[in-house]
Amino acid sequence: MAGFGWFWKAMGGQSGRSQKKSRQIVAKASQAQEELNRLSDKELADKARSMVSDKKITDPAGFLAVLSVASQRTLGLTPFPPQAQACLRLLAGDVIHMATGEGKTLVGAMAATGYGLMGHTVHAITVNDYLAHRDAEWMRPLVEFFGLSVGAITEKMTPGERREVYARDIVYGPVNEIGFDVLRDQLITRREDAVQHGADVAIVDEADSVLVDEALVPLVLAGSQPGSAPQGKITELVKNLRQGTDFTTDDDRRNVFLTEQGADKVERALGIDSLYDDEHVGTTLVQVNLALHAQELLLRDVHYLIRDGKVALIDASKGRVADLQRWPDGLQAAVEAKEGLAVTEGGRILDTITLQALLHRYPTVCGMTGTAVEATDQLAQFYQLKVSVIDRNKELIRFDEADRVYATMKQKNDAIVDEIRRVHATGQPILVGTQDVAESEELAAKLAEFDIETNVLNAKNDWAEAEIIAQAGEYGKVTVSTQMAGRGTDIKLGGADERDHDRVAEAGGLFVLGTGRHRSSRLDNQLRGRAGRQGDPGSSLFFVSLEDDMVTTGGAGEDITANPDQFGMIDSKRIRDYVEHCQRVTEGQLLEIHSQTWKYNKLIADQRIIIDERRGEILDTDAALESFRSRVPGRVEELEATVDHGVLVQAARDVMLYHLDNGWSDHLALLDDVRESIHLRAIARETPLDEYHRIAVHEFKQLAERAMEEAVDTFTRVRIDNDGAHLEEEGLARPSATWTYMVNDNPLSSNGNKLKKAVRLMFGGSPVAKD
Ligand code: ADP
Repeated sequence: MAGFGWFWKAMGGQSGRSQKKSRQIVAKASQAQEELNRLSDKELADKARSMVSDKKITDPAGFLAVLSVASQRTLGLTPFPPQAQACLRLLAGDVIHMATGEGKTLVGAMAATGYGLMGHTVHAITVNDYLAHRDAEWMRPLVEFFGLSVGAITEKMTPGERREVYARDIVYGPVNEIGFDVLRDQLITRREDAVQHGADVAIVDEADSVLVDEALVPLVLAGSQPGSAPQGKITELVKNLRQGTDFTTDDDRRNVFLTEQGADKVERALGIDSLYDDEHVGTTLVQVNLALHAQELLLRDVHYLIRDGKVALIDASKGRVADLQRWPDGLQAAVEAKEGLAVTEGGRILDTITLQALLHRYPTVCGMTGTAVEATDQLAQFYQLKVSVIDRNKELIRFDEADRVYATMKQKNDAIVDEIRRVHATGQPILVGTQDVAESEELAAKLAEFDIETNVLNAKNDWAEAEIIAQAGEYGKVTVSTQMAGRGTDIKLGGADERDHDRVAEAGGLFVLGTGRHRSSRLDNQLRGRAGRQGDPGSSLFFVSLEDDMVTTGGAGEDITANPDQFGMIDSKRIRDYVEHCQRVTEGQLLEIHSQTWKYNKLIADQRIIIDERRGEILDTDAALESFRSRVPGRVEELEATVDHGVLVQAARDVMLYHLDNGWSDHLALLDDVRESIHLRAIARETPLDEYHRIAVHEFKQLAERAMEEAVDTFTRVRIDNDGAHLEEEGLARPSATWTYMVNDNPLSSNGNKLKKAVRLMFGGSPVAKD
């Protein structure tokens, strides 16, 4: 992605050196401010514009000084030097590493304003609705000071409202809504129905979460079509299967494998010969696997909740209900069946895009987060982005205690309760980061037994979440949260208004307690970073047990000896190093999964771009009608005699787009199937990805040809009059309803696991070929 290399080249620097240069610019900008104070608002705004020529900033120091003075006048905030530095690095197209509470919102708005003044359209991308709205309203005076316009996209907006907001210079919006709008815009049949018109800069808040953790979450646009639900009989049947004999699960409990004995049982119960017959491999076996997966691996209150008679997914990375998310259709239905709920009808996937592909659409991407350094490799590998570390305005005085490692989970949990009781007695506010909703509730219940009242943060809406987090710094408060809940809200000591700041600071500031190390140290640091904002006192401490998921997954197969004390605690550097080692292993696994999965997704993303270009041509020109003219000139002539030209052009467009979109939707479904079965097909050749590419490229070529043939066929048959093409008469209507969702941590199809299970079984339990 382009960034603003020209700027740093002009400064003669590489990344490290350019940081030094930016510091000099910041120093110069500070000096320039005093003089600027004398200018009127209008003079200031004009001055900023005069410093931009040909989409470049001619005087960075002066420009920064103007932005600072404007911020002071409009928001009452004088940017600290590190904020000015951060703004420069954003304008250079970097991801900045800036700690919690250092004021990233202002930095992002200054950079957005800078890009806006350079004539760019900017999307300021947030992680949720609440933050998009909050940030846009908070920063509005600064943006408008320069005569630029700003707005926020939120979930409930109508297309008309969205169109109006997207037309502004700077648009704040949650990443999923922006993505859904891209998908919907790729299905329009008239240009004026589009809500977006492209943007050239994305400034991504919580950049590591969006660009790395959630990068491969597909946003899906689906259209109504009745689907096939798994059979109730199968759901009942898997309840009688026994772990160990009928099926096994892998160590990190991500996959479940039917054993031969289990398969026999299923076959007998269903009265079929073999689950692996052609007839059953793609249907019954898949359903059995789905039902078993739902039964064994998806736990109520850990992976999902039942709310209002519906399955509500818990977002694994945020630990709260993800309203828009669902599992891939079959699995969603399997969980509904397991819980005895009404099974929802499946739909037809019309289009999908991953966040990574979405962000690749912007010529310039930059962003900010408190944990960018830990994501340096991913940001470079997947986005060619560099990380700039921004110094803290005030020195960090947080005390990070060494991990406390216990032999068993039970011993760890007891120790956690003891520690919370001890710290709570001192009045120090405590923020506990747990791994999932069930854990947070169990902990809260246990603390209640000791008369410790807690605020439990999970399954709430973004706004309530922000409220609770804002109060987490009050004297004596205990807040139990799931991972990353309330990201983006700053915890101030002594309450949101800092009324009681000094008393809390005296008690030691915020105490952050992690109930387990995450699979990536980045997430640990996010949690730690909640304490010690803006030079405040604070401390952090993580508890670990050798039975924790991260440890068993990362250290699989390794023998460790330890000498726990009477409480199960193992106070040894060697063991703490071992925990670190396990985490590096799990981090490596995550990176590997990301890079493998992206290889599959990248191809679809590239093909999507080609489709989009083709659509653009059809939407904006007479290409469709002219294509028909060259193939069926007689038909075109005949229609031209009676149908108005403009109407005919649109009718041709509607026909062509119908078949193109339909073809694309079929293509996606086919690729999904291919991806799931590729391990079967390619097992002999052991190059699933190459095989997948070969098929995808071949099918894509056919898509174009087939769509054209079908379109010509429809065009000759369908009734076209001055009301347009009557596609519905041919049963070719577009879906009457569409809806959007995110596919959460696709446990089945992402790596072809579903059929891997079958493979494993067919070869009598022998190891599966590695991808
Ligand atoms: P972050 O996103 O980096 O955690 P925020 O943008 O939420 O931080 O800002 C944290 C707090 O710091 C906010 O209350 C904001 O008003 C305050 N703040 C930011 N910049 C300044 C500044 N230059 N001067 C005074 N207060 C500031």
